[in-house]
Amino acid sequence: MPVKINYHRCNGCKACYNHCPADLFGWDEERDIPYIAYPDECWHCGICKMECPVEKAIELTLPPQCWLEINKRFISKLSAPTEFQWPEEG
Ligand code: SF4
Ligand code: SF4
Repeated sequence: MPVKINYHRCNGCKACYNHCPADLFGWDEERDIPYIAYPDECWHCGICKMECPVEKAIELTLPPQCWLEINKRFISKLSAPTEFQWPEEG
């Protein structure tokens, strides 16, 4: 599952539920907490994690194909080292 909620940390603020553009979150009215209703629909946009006010209440795992795409886009823009330098001692 790409998104996990850490219920030990979640304060039930509903930000993830309100901001997910894919409407992935359901809301448990009895316990007043979110749940992941449609895990396969996640876009991996990261908005839920960005909007969540509690550190580590949401864990987002990017699938391998996302990392391949990120690598393709950004690693080619990094300049390759032209020579190797040993770190200075002391
Ligand atoms: S990563 Fe994006 S699509 Fe996936 S649950 Fe979070 S807000 Fe929704
Ligand atoms: S945004 Fe974070 S703290 Fe708020 S309900 Fe969602 S997981 Fe819980």
